[in-house]
Amino acid sequence: MNNIPDQTPEEEVVYFDELNLVDELLDALDDMGFEKCTPIQAKAIPPSLEGRDVLAVAQTGTGKTAAFLLPILDKLTREPVSKVNTIILEPTRELAMQVDRQLEGFSFYTPASSIAIYGGRDGHSMEREKNALKTGAPLVVATPGRLIAHLDLGYADLSGVRHLVLDEADRMLDMGFVNDMIKIIDMLPKEKLQILFYSATMPGKIRKFSREILKNPVEISIAISKPAEKIDQKAFDVADWAKISLIEHILKDKKDLERILIFCGRKKTVRDLTRRLQRKGHKAESVSSDLEQQEREDRLGDFRSGKIPIVIATDVLSRGIHIDGIDLVINFDVPGDAEDYVHRIGRTARASAEGEAITLISKEDRQRFKRIEELVEKEVRRVPLPDELADAEPTQGRDDREKGGRGSKKGGGGGRGRGRGRSGPRKSSGDRAGGSPDASGSSNTGGGGGDRPKKFGRRRPKRD
Ligand code: AMP
Repeated sequence: MNNIPDQTPEEEVVYFDELNLVDELLDALDDMGFEKCTPIQAKAIPPSLEGRDVLAVAQTGTGKTAAFLLPILDKLTREPVSKVNTIILEPTRELAMQVDRQLEGFSFYTPASSIAIYGGRDGHSMEREKNALKTGAPLVVATPGRLIAHLDLGYADLSGVRHLVLDEADRMLDMGFVNDMIKIIDMLPKEKLQILFYSATMPGKIRKFSREILKNPVEISIAISKPAEKIDQKAFDVADWAKISLIEHILKDKKDLERILIFCGRKKTVRDLTRRLQRKGHKAESVSSDLEQQEREDRLGDFRSGKIPIVIATDVLSRGIHIDGIDLVINFDVPGDAEDYVHRIGRTARASAEGEAITLISKEDRQRFKRIEELVEKEVRRVPLPDELADAEPTQGRDDREKGGRGSKKGGGGGRGRGRGRSGPRKSSGDRAGGSPDASGSSNTGGGGGDRPKKFGRRRPKRD
């Protein structure tokens, strides 16, 4: 399955073997089927190789991970080191694991090894992370909070750090990591530090923050990607109280889909919807920060491999998680941030496949959805409510319907019986289910997580 980010047609095509990268990296790229650079790679790799700071506005799906990893790996192959050399900060555990997996692929033929440091695991992994930080894993991929927990204990030797990557910097700021980031930067040897600053958006506060820490950066902006044309976007205007019933109705027609991802704004909604769908016989599971790390990984693994066809999640999953072959994304709530909409629905139609995105819009959400339509420069098609929910138009007012409406016989009857059992035959997916490990992070590594410096027994780089 191909998952190649779009090339902008008018951009000049740049091939990886024109970039002066070491053979070890070219061999891995070759194994993975990476031949041409994406625009962000073509623009960011040359100045990064020269040691310049980079300020890049690029979203997930543009190939930004390779854009920042390859120049660093090139350096570490030419001049292998034993101390901690590079710190890559990621907003979430999932992204940290995913970047670590890509790293594993790209670095296969190089001497560089890495450790992923993220919270939510047992004390044992803290011990392993500690050892890696003490003995010196050249590349450290970490979430800020967990890294600080180690740094506060004083055993990490950061004197050899030469590269810092801030990935999804806007997200890290939104998540309140600013003090952690500043604290980490303050602990690094600044004179020799190269900072690669990647952000999906560039609001004023991010620009200000970047100015404070970057030295004469090369600025690169890859235009906000609109959702792929092949995503069939539609929306229902529906009162909050009727949303769960509407989801059941929608799922009735989707029994042969292999992977459905439903995003909810709140954890409570995730729990309620999951319970309701499970009661109706759907194989559905939730993924939110309520879960232990291992459970989250297991569920994502089951979703990737096709064992669980429906996952209900908070925005934990909206950015940067590569799960190929998602057929349908449903926004149970309109996301607060217009760009999160692009991220959420970007989970579908990632490859050459077509995808579908359905958004449920309540009265309160209308204004927000309008902003989204402005951002994506498209009026999303409204679909009439099914007959049994026809009186659930949000104009009726949510509050006056709330009491009598929730779980009303109409809504409840709508999904009864027919929504059950997704155990029937599903499309075969040799290239997906339990697919071969690859650097896109689309493999099911389950709990295999990256909590060790790796080199031996690694998987060969490979793309599906
Ligand atoms: P990213 O934006 O870094 O999250 O990458 C998005 C997806 O594109 C990942 O699955 C990468 O493995 C894949 N990818 C990145 N760069 C290339 C490339 N030059 N050729 C083919 N696939 C790529």
